[in-house]
Amino acid sequence: QKAELAKLVNDKTVTLDNHHVELAANIGSPEDVAGAIANGAEGVGLFRTEFLYMGRNDFPTEEEQYVAYKHVLEHMGDRPVVIRTLDIGGDKHLSYLALPEEMNPFLGHRAIRLCLDNQELFRTQLRALLRASVHGNLKIMFPMIATLEEFRQAKAILEEEKKSLVNRGIVVSDQYEVGIMIEIPAAALMADQFAREVDFFSIGTNDLIQYTMAADRMNEKVAYLYQPYHPAVLRLLHNVIKAGHAQNKWVGMCGEMAGDPIAIPILLGLGLDEFSMSAGSILPARQQLSRLRVEDAAKQIDTILQMSTSAQVEAFVKEWLERV
Ligand code: PEP
Ligand code: MG
Repeated sequence: QKAELAKLVNDKTVTLDNHHVELAANIGSPEDVAGAIANGAEGVGLFRTEFLYMGRNDFPTEEEQYVAYKHVLEHMGDRPVVIRTLDIGGDKHLSYLALPEEMNPFLGHRAIRLCLDNQELFRTQLRALLRASVHGNLKIMFPMIATLEEFRQAKAILEEEKKSLVNRGIVVSDQYEVGIMIEIPAAALMADQFAREVDFFSIGTNDLIQYTMAADRMNEKVAYLYQPYHPAVLRLLHNVIKAGHAQNKWVGMCGEMAGDPIAIPILLGLGLDEFSMSAGSILPARQQLSRLRVEDAAKQIDTILQMSTSAQVEAFVKEWLERV
């Protein structure tokens, strides 16, 4: 079984009916890139940069960040690398950044909200990313976007930093993309509006599920409500993918759901373009996808979206997988 999987390391991910999807890795540090490649990643779908900021006594400098981003980009060659700007607050804290106690940290001052409010912190990271952009196939991603104004403001700051680097004679690529995570229901519902302005979406189901079901992703007591296959969640995914494609934008997923063997056939049928997961899940997912047909998967979607419970969806997919 392991040997069978290992044979797929250098393959593209193609379904039985010849449809290509990209399987990418989620990484947390520059050192993870070797493991991603060893496990057959066609790209990096999520580099969680907060780990560069954690376990130390002060913010990483622009230069330190530049070196880290360059390392990942160079090692991935021409394969796409999605680097997410800082996502702290919520469950992630920095010892050297005092954040006030909040009643509801997951609904609070985190991620892009915090960055737009601490612009020096944000601008330093953006400069490091822009300088690294010449070393590979970079896609910059903003986390926890709820409104178009937030995206526009973040993008405007990025443009400002780009201009000032260029004015200083520093070379910046003009090929990088700028996209957002879809992890807040408001953004998932407004995906058609966002799709006109972003280069891509990456769906963060870890948060999207918790916000859709109002079930804290860390709370055991409500874990029964944390339902990836709930039709409410699937309808949001459907809306996001449809909206992205209507504007010719690619749509990925970097939440845990992207590597889940029950979710994969549904996501394939919904038209997801890129699946980003922990490195160890890539080869099993490639093997599973190579046995599925996108055309069959797409035909199940109407039925699935009309179901009323998560249990119903799960039973349906399991039965379908037994038939293939
Ligand atoms: C997500 O919310 O799905 C996601 C990928 O981000 P994180 O798990 O880092 O919040
Ligand atoms: Mg998230």
